[in-house]
Amino acid sequence: MSYKLESQQIGIELVDAHCHLELFEDYKIAISDARMAGIRWMITAGGSRASSNAAIKIAEGKSVFAVIGIDPSAPPEDSSFIPEISGIIKSNKNVIGIGEIGLDYKVSKVDKELQKKIFVDQIKIAKELDVPIVIHARGAIEDVMRIVDEQKVKKALFHFFEGDEKQARHLADKGYLISIPPIESSKRKRVINSLELSSIVVETDSPVVGRGPIDVIKTVGWIAQIKGMTFSNTAVEITQNVKKLFSI
Ligand SMILES: [Zn+2]
Repeated sequence: MSYKLESQQIGIELVDAHCHLELFEDYKIAISDARMAGIRWMITAGGSRASSNAAIKIAEGKSVFAVIGIDPSAPPEDSSFIPEISGIIKSNKNVIGIGEIGLDYKVSKVDKELQKKIFVDQIKIAKELDVPIVIHARGAIEDVMRIVDEQKVKKALFHFFEGDEKQARHLADKGYLISIPPIESSKRKRVINSLELSSIVVETDSPVVGRGPIDVIKTVGWIAQIKGMTFSNTAVEITQNVKKLFSI
C-alpha cells in the first residue's frame, strides 16, 4: 500500500512545516490537493515584503498559517518591513513566527555583515514576542549556529537542514527542530539517524523544491523506514513536533 493511501485511510494528519504557497499558479488548488491527501496543516513562509504580505493573505488559520520576515536574499530596502513585523504578529493570530530569516553565503548577493544585522534584528523581535524563528542557512551553517547561540534563541526550526549529524545533534540538544526536505541523501540519512524523532519535522519548500505539500508523505515514509517505525507512529510524532513549536 502506498503511503498516500495509508495516510488517507487511517486519517493521519500531516504537516508541511515549510512551503511557499504564494508561488503556486493556483494556491487554492495546492491547498485542497494537500488536504485531500491528509496534509492537515501547512506553514507558508515569506522572505521579502511582497512574499510576506502574500503569505499573510493566504493564511486563513484553518489549514494554513504564515511566518513572515526578510530572508538574506531579499533586496536590502525590504528591511523597512522589519519594524512592522511585531504589530502584524500581535494583531493576526494566523501569523505564527518569523521566517524565513538567516544567512546565505551561496546565492545571496547581499553583503554578509548586512545579512547578519537583518537576521539579528528579526531574532530580537521573535524573542520579544516569544514566537519561533524559521531559519534559512545556506553555505552559512556555522555563522548561523554561532548567532543563534549568542542571541540565546529559544524556539527555532532549521528549514531545509543542510548540516551534518554533529551539527544536527548540537541543535537538537538545544531544543531546536531540524526540518527534512523531500530530497534523500546519505548525509541526510545520517542526520536522521543521529536525531530523536522529537527533533525532526518535514517540509517540502514547494513549489521551489517539492511539487506540493503532498510531498511530505514520501519523506515521512523515508524517516519511518530509517527509524524502523510504522508510518503512522512517525507521522503522529512529527506532526506533534510542529504543533508544539508553533502552538497550533
Ligand atoms: Zn523556503
